[in-house]
Amino acid sequence: MGLIDTSLEVLKLASKIANPELVQAATRANIEALELSGKNLELRQRAEELENQVKELKAQLLLTGEVFREGDLVFREGEQRGYCSRCWDVERKLVHIVSMGAGGRSGHNGCPQCKTFYNFGHVGNPRMK
Ligand SMILES: [Zn+2]
Repeated sequence: MGLIDTSLEVLKLASKIANPELVQAATRANIEALELSGKNLELRQRAEELENQVKELKAQLLLTGEVFREGDLVFREGEQRGYCSRCWDVERKLVHIVSMGAGGRSGHNGCPQCKTFYNFGHVGNPRMK
């Protein structure tokens, strides 16, 4: 039985005894139990948010050790294609550079996220030749 159920039970018993002071005290206890329950829920949600933030930050920290910059692009060890340096610098997000020219013309590579264009054809990892 939880705190709210217990305090409701106390309130019912107090009503049976028909002591007005006891009913008042039991009612206050019930209201306080409800408030505590609401605060508990808020705190649990906040804890979950913070846990998720910690997970995100850990993942970003791991990535920071794996990426390197070469020219205008960012690369990740063991991956062929380059990432947008703007998205990495500003948001710590790895977004692959893709061909964005009309009909896939070379030399029109860009970031699909922030629409930054990179004016060169080769976007491959220089450490993977
Ligand atoms: Zn970008």
